[in-house]
Amino acid sequence: MAVYLNLELTDHCNVCCPMCSQSLRHLAHGETKSFMSWDAWRSVLAGLEGAPEEVHLCPHWLGEPTVHPDFDRMVEYAFAMNRDNRLFRSFKLHTNGVLLGDSRARLMVRLATSPHHAPDTFTTVHWSFDAASPATYAKVKGADRYEQVARNLRGFVRCRERQGSLWPRAHIAFVVQPDNAHDAERFLSTWGALLEETGRPWDLTADWPSQERDAIYFRPLNCADQPTADTLHARICTQLGIAEEGQILRAAESF
Ligand code: SF4
Repeated sequence: MAVYLNLELTDHCNVCCPMCSQSLRHLAHGETKSFMSWDAWRSVLAGLEGAPEEVHLCPHWLGEPTVHPDFDRMVEYAFAMNRDNRLFRSFKLHTNGVLLGDSRARLMVRLATSPHHAPDTFTTVHWSFDAASPATYAKVKGADRYEQVARNLRGFVRCRERQGSLWPRAHIAFVVQPDNAHDAERFLSTWGALLEETGRPWDLTADWPSQERDAIYFRPLNCADQPTADTLHARICTQLGIAEEGQILRAAESF
């Protein structure tokens, strides 16, 4: 058995996606948005020691974890305390990538390549990107950050390659929606070219990818009109050659 544990470092975010419940509500959890305290982080991590189940940790739920003022320190601390995987078996970062510049990329790769835990502990940095141009990015992310994220994503993959590490995997995500569907092919060719640079196989998926390889994946928008969102997603995946016409694209356990 395994436990998949999301610890939300913050419900603040530095962009404003119209699809996101974090950005749609002034009070994401019915309370003023906040940052997890250092003491809470330490105490939750300490509580994982000796857990009967294997723990898979993700420091994110709503919000953008890298905007936490103590993000680097918290993640470094988690890995320092995780010698021999005594607290968690794996770690996955979900981010919009705006604040994942060169020094953070180096930090992520350094943590992933530490000899003090299993090599596949820091499995993935999941890039919530959703656009292939500044104009589309402004529409679907509500911010002028396309070039910054593109630079950061290239920097992250190349930093990892320079270190000769397979970890963390880069999962580059595109949530298909009416305002970005026209960008899907360009998204695939742009970021497919980056992953080709690594010389290793990567996955192209219509649902959550596995941790086995880097991946580009196209997800349906979760929304009130789910059949329409799923139809658009299926059409785009068929156009991209990821899916056959009429194929069911979302696993039953997916959300
Ligand atoms: S980047 Fe993530 S947390 Fe921030 S508004 Fe978009 S979907 Fe929500």
